Amino acid sequence: MKTIAGFLSGITVLITTFMSCTNTATNTAPAAGISKQPFGEADGKPVDLYTLTNKNGVQLKISTYGGVVTSWVTPDKKGNKSSIVLGFDSLSGYFTPPPYFGAIIGRYGNRIANGKFKIGDSTYTLATNNGKNSLHGGKKGFDKVVWTAATVADSVPSLVLTYQAKDGEEGYPGNLDVKVTYTLTDDNELDIVYDATTDKATPVNLTNHSYFNLTGDHANTILDHQLMLTADYYTPVDSTLIPTGEIKAVKGTPFDFTTAHRIGERIDSVPGGYDHNFVLNRKDNALQKVAEVTDTLSGRKLEVFTTEPGIQFYSGNFLDGNIKDTQGKPFIKHSGLCLETQHYPNSPNEPKFPTTILQPGQKYHTETKYKVSW
Ligand code: BGC
Repeated sequence: MKTIAGFLSGITVLITTFMSCTNTATNTAPAAGISKQPFGEADGKPVDLYTLTNKNGVQLKISTYGGVVTSWVTPDKKGNKSSIVLGFDSLSGYFTPPPYFGAIIGRYGNRIANGKFKIGDSTYTLATNNGKNSLHGGKKGFDKVVWTAATVADSVPSLVLTYQAKDGEEGYPGNLDVKVTYTLTDDNELDIVYDATTDKATPVNLTNHSYFNLTGDHANTILDHQLMLTADYYTPVDSTLIPTGEIKAVKGTPFDFTTAHRIGERIDSVPGGYDHNFVLNRKDNALQKVAEVTDTLSGRKLEVFTTEPGIQFYSGNFLDGNIKDTQGKPFIKHSGLCLETQHYPNSPNEPKFPTTILQPGQKYHTETKYKVSW
């Protein structure tokens, strides 16, 4: 692993003044590289918005607030550019309780039942923020803090975000040093590498909560997108979306995406819509392709590669039109889908699930790539 000092030594931040960010880009080809602009203030700290541009003119915008991917602009099959993720072009959008749009999720992605778990003889009580459960790190998870940024001078633009979560923050044990490295490759991949170390045993489950809409227009739902998942099993949930502990075969159920299916095809037989952890078929923990989403309207394809054992497929069920983008256009039900690579929800309370406990001296290291083509 490169050290942060190593990364810092090669800083090439082109601090440029560029056109105000919108979710729909113009067709002028921007220069490849990385630039930043002020994005406002949170917790009394300045927030920056970084723009990563690759040689194909594909552009990613990432905020130091929450490490949020605010937009990812790519062409469609006709060459028209638009963002394939839901987001806001002003920081204030992220303060009106947004459902985690584009953010880094931690210390623990998804739910921990009753906000409680045990490590050895110690019981820990977390901040609960989802009924009686703790969701996505608690009341103020990693999506709501300002991260420290450094940029990397390499052949492709990378942004390194770091954050130290304190011992006891949101009820979790241990000071946790987290590093998330976002890279935009010339193959149009968003590569995300998550690293962490701790000084006390603690659960860690980091992910990114981007909502994709490959049409590039959130007036459309994602119900016509086709989805494939390399998962023969999933983890059924109770009424509060906590896994029951069962690992169930998808065969013969609406959860079978082992061959591509239209998302809307069977969604009505899934109460509430898809919001489930799929158990990925894997022999080892190498980076492997686990999901593919296609959209005929735009001709775009999204492939997901990960080292993680699970993926949360969430079909944007709780979006209800109440949240609107900066132009006033509502984010309607199913206007985005999330593919959150992860360990299974509630693992600290399910000894049969792969462990999420990071011990002092161990290195947490996972990687997920989202690749778009058109
Ligand atoms: C969860 C949903 C939750 C959503 C928040 C997803 O990861 O599985 O249940 O509502 O995040 O936007």
